[in-house]
Amino acid sequence: MNNNTTSNANKYSFCVIAISFAVLIVVCVAMWWKMQDIINVHLEHQAAEQGKEISKIVNNTFGEELRLLDEITAFIRMETGEMEEFLRKEEGISYGVLRINGEVAYGEALDTTAYDGIFESIHGNEAVSCNTDTSVLFTVPVNNGENVKYVLYKLYQGAVLAERMDLSSYNGKGVCAIIDIDGNVLLEMTEQPFDRTIFQKEQYKEALVKIRDKMNINSAAASICGESGNDNIVFVSETEYAGLYVIGSVPVDVVAGDIHLLIPLVLWCFGLLWLLLLIVTIYLLGAEKKARESDELRQAKQSAEQANHAKSDFLANMSHEIRTPINAVIGMNEMILRECEDNTILEYAGNIDIASHNLLAVVNDILDFSKIESGKMEIFEHTYQLGEALKDVVTMIELKAKQKGLDFSIDVRSELPDVLYGDDVRIKQILLNLLNNAIKYTEEGSVCLKVTGEADADYKMVNLVMSVSDTGIGIRKENMNALFNQFQRFDLKNNRNIEGTGLGLAITHNLIQMMNGSIKVESTYGEGSVFTVYLSQPIKGDARLGDFVKKYRDFSGHTKKYQNSYVAPQASVLVVDDNQINLQVIKNLLKKTQINITTCMNGYQALELMCENYYDVILLDHMMPGMDGIETLCQAQKTPENLNKEVPVIALTANAVSGAKEMYLAAGFSDYLSKPVVGKTLEDMIGQYIPEDKILPIEEEQEEVKEEQADERKEMVEDAAPEGLLCPQKGMKYVSDMKEVYLEILKMFYDQYEERTESLKGYLEEQNWNDYTVLIHALKTNSINIGCDSLAADCLELEKAGKVLREATDEKDKIEFILANHPKAMEKYTKLIDEVREYLSGEGIL
Ligand code: ADP
Repeated sequence: MNNNTTSNANKYSFCVIAISFAVLIVVCVAMWWKMQDIINVHLEHQAAEQGKEISKIVNNTFGEELRLLDEITAFIRMETGEMEEFLRKEEGISYGVLRINGEVAYGEALDTTAYDGIFESIHGNEAVSCNTDTSVLFTVPVNNGENVKYVLYKLYQGAVLAERMDLSSYNGKGVCAIIDIDGNVLLEMTEQPFDRTIFQKEQYKEALVKIRDKMNINSAAASICGESGNDNIVFVSETEYAGLYVIGSVPVDVVAGDIHLLIPLVLWCFGLLWLLLLIVTIYLLGAEKKARESDELRQAKQSAEQANHAKSDFLANMSHEIRTPINAVIGMNEMILRECEDNTILEYAGNIDIASHNLLAVVNDILDFSKIESGKMEIFEHTYQLGEALKDVVTMIELKAKQKGLDFSIDVRSELPDVLYGDDVRIKQILLNLLNNAIKYTEEGSVCLKVTGEADADYKMVNLVMSVSDTGIGIRKENMNALFNQFQRFDLKNNRNIEGTGLGLAITHNLIQMMNGSIKVESTYGEGSVFTVYLSQPIKGDARLGDFVKKYRDFSGHTKKYQNSYVAPQASVLVVDDNQINLQVIKNLLKKTQINITTCMNGYQALELMCENYYDVILLDHMMPGMDGIETLCQAQKTPENLNKEVPVIALTANAVSGAKEMYLAAGFSDYLSKPVVGKTLEDMIGQYIPEDKILPIEEEQEEVKEEQADERKEMVEDAAPEGLLCPQKGMKYVSDMKEVYLEILKMFYDQYEERTESLKGYLEEQNWNDYTVLIHALKTNSINIGCDSLAADCLELEKAGKVLREATDEKDKIEFILANHPKAMEKYTKLIDEVREYLSGEGIL
């Protein structure tokens, strides 16, 4: 959809630009023509004006000649027609006096038919007449009284007159002449002869026709003619003397001067303006497109951010939801690992433990990743011990390396300061990520953790250098750059059996950056890798790390096997969690401490219990429906009847992130315990908060317990005579060696005897195989529970036959089998009950 919009917009822009160009060209051409027209009209007008100017000169010259001639008339003797001899004779000019009959009275005779003006003057008018032989005759009448007696004339040779008139056009750049109505050239410029052929040339003829049309309304006109590049303007102008015209021709360029440059100039300006307009249009289109695109981008970014936000929230919630059941699995599984003695089951449980911890690690990675993505990842700094942090890391890693058959070595500089300020949880996470990878991607050889560094001169900061090296598969050079990208995994063909999300290094890199540190990777494909982390941490004390390896070995030697560290039968703890299994897990984990545990499943019940009883410690889950842990604590503090206001409340949550502890402390909790709760941690924390006088040291107590247990077992072994049916040790195993529970179950078994035998008898008589089978099955299970496999085996056979009869009542052999064996089983049951009675009496219960 967006692509379509963009391509439509592109097409639209292209069309606009193409149309603009076309319009530009058309307009330019039209303008060119129009301007050419305008300029031509202007030039023609200019030439016509020039014609008028020349006409004026002609008029003035001719007028002056006639006036002078008129003045001379006074010197003519009327009787003879002769002139007084004062006229200067000039070359090419002659004077004469004609009688009205055409005869010469004075001067040279003239061909009176050749000059129209003679007749004009005989009729009393001054006149100018030209002859085709290029002579010009000026005539004036000489009156005697009212009548014309003579005609005085002055005859010019054309060239002489032309010279006198100084006929010129455009300072000699053009040519001009005086013509008569028929186009005969009468007078022409002396230095430049008029080209008479123009009257024959086609283009000039056209021009003259145009001029003639124009001269219907004007006294002068001009027209451009000629071929392109060699154009002339022809102009014609009337004179005041009928039949005499001025004609001229001048090159267009002479008239135009620089005016022609105007056209390209205007066109350039216009073109530039148009171009500017086009650029502005394109820019605006581009800007609009960009605005549209950036709008689309903004929307896309917004929805991507929303989606990302939703994804992060989803991941965070999912991780939380997944962590809770994993906690339950890990907790319950720990109970199996502690209490089960069956090696096969222990092996299964061990696998569950590994798998569930792996799953938890993946969920934690996703949770961290979603936090980094949403910018919610924070670094919580506080004082910590470097040695403790390294110990935690090594404890978790060493076993893994060993299990994979890898050598694991530790090299820690003893001079390093021990007490530092920073986020130890995240530093441990970084090292664990790198070490886990080193183990994951190394099939044989070794993994080494090296921690060195230098404190600065005034012992305020230490620049830690922590490196993890391995002799594993290594990383190809071309993959190095993408190593810290999210979800990036390499060499998938070779690593297909290695589990991973591709998030570990991305998280590690982010965490290091958040702590203003850096990470360097050196690797040779096929030989191994070294990841080195550089981190500066403020020093918070003079203590040095010392011989870390030795300290670690001492520590791990002591903590190989789980052992409860104390018992506190007088202590009571309230555990609040909305998850029944979690409650069960905590109860079981604390079982050996003999602490009295009360459980409830929501905040309201917890408040009621707090008002009724006194507890030594309260474990309060955070995420609960209704009132959550923080609200419950808040309410508890406000409730006057609460007997436990001073009692330490420990937050119990699956929300295990750095900073969580600070958050819970701020909310009023005394401490914080993350799920999955590790038995030892839970025990230690509770031990920290219950009053000292209620804690019995394990040495004495454990010895006592051990002795008691040994005695009990001895007793039981003694009780269970070889021929006896009851085996209390076996029964005890099912209740984790808890004798009271066993005795309770045994008493219930005993009490049910009469009713059960009666019911079984009745069902048998009625041949009610259904109820019979159900009841014999229950007897079988209970026999196992109390430790009597023999009766259980008999019941099993009866149950099998009963099941067949439930489906097909006519199975005679099954009926016979039951009828034959039921009494034997009942006999055994009675015998067993005798033994039970005896045992219970021995315990003082009966
Ligand atoms: P993963 O969950 O796949 O281990 P990481 O982000 O921790 O994700 O590592 C990304 C990739 O970098 C791994 O898939 C692996 O290909 C490579 N890698 C990381 N550490 C090592 C190592 N020590 N040796 C070889 N390859 C490694």
